Amino acid sequence: MIASVCVKDGNIRFYNEQDDLSSIGGIVCELGKPLLNFLCYESERFDEAISDIVLAFETPGAETGMHSPEFKAATGEMLTNLQTSETYVYCFMREFLSAVYGGQPPREAARRLSADFRSKRDFMASQVELLLNFREAAKGDDNFPVMELFYLLDEYNKEQIGEYVYLEKPLHSFYGCVKPPEIAELYEINSIDDLCRFEFVKMIEHNIFIKKCKNCGWFFIPNRRQDAEYCDRQFGDTNRKCSEIGAMLRYEKKVAENPVWEIYKRNYRRQNSRARAKKMTQAEFLRWSEEASQKRDECLAGEMPFDEYAAWLEQGRIRKVHAKKQQDGE
Ligand SMILES: [Zn+2]
Repeated sequence: MIASVCVKDGNIRFYNEQDDLSSIGGIVCELGKPLLNFLCYESERFDEAISDIVLAFETPGAETGMHSPEFKAATGEMLTNLQTSETYVYCFMREFLSAVYGGQPPREAARRLSADFRSKRDFMASQVELLLNFREAAKGDDNFPVMELFYLLDEYNKEQIGEYVYLEKPLHSFYGCVKPPEIAELYEINSIDDLCRFEFVKMIEHNIFIKKCKNCGWFFIPNRRQDAEYCDRQFGDTNRKCSEIGAMLRYEKKVAENPVWEIYKRNYRRQNSRARAKKMTQAEFLRWSEEASQKRDECLAGEMPFDEYAAWLEQGRIRKVHAKKQQDGE
């Protein structure tokens, strides 16, 4: 058994006190977060981490070294850190290590786990995508039974992979004592598949709202407001969260891809700097900006030809320069 789990107060709780590879004993996470974070964990990153360990195992003397208390302590620390931040990656890593300790050649175990990581992650991502589609289709129907979502998902799975994933495979549960001392109904997690199924099923049962980030494209649970468009994960190597830079990046992309936006932005910048340099008043600038964005929207909607819009922006410039010259008495 990897762990026993339960859901309480909107959190998923993992208990793995018996684990001889990680010393942490258990963790509590917001229901849905571990699974959704797993889905956007790059497989290259996973491969890299695992091949580092393969190299360590393959250095001369590792055969005896891997059973030393120091080595076990180091891997234990790595697993403990992973368990707190990336619960699913931790499970894969744990399976890799127990395979190697069980005698499987490291390289072989690494290959198997890398392939497994990819296929499970891609499968669960497709399940979440399906769920969102089914939810979208049922939108507005307040009487739509949640159970129907499982039927829809599994009908699809039966057709695609030939088996039911959720309906016919209940997890074994038992009663256990958890901290603070109380009795809880716990579920046995014997494989990563079990964990995927458990968390996904509970997310549906608890109606966890899921959205797709408009910047990175991965799933997230909007915490502060339901209409949030961007997730709170760090985007690439920018050191910034999607929620901090998503809107700006999307605007820039829109500008780069659309000549109407491009010409609008170029002229906006020019007029703005003119206003700052006091070559036009702030009121004039605001008037211009309002008219320019109104015409921009007309142009985007196909109500005004692009050339006409470009000519208007150009004319505005000439008119301003002309007016300025007259004012200067030229
Ligand atoms: Zn994102």
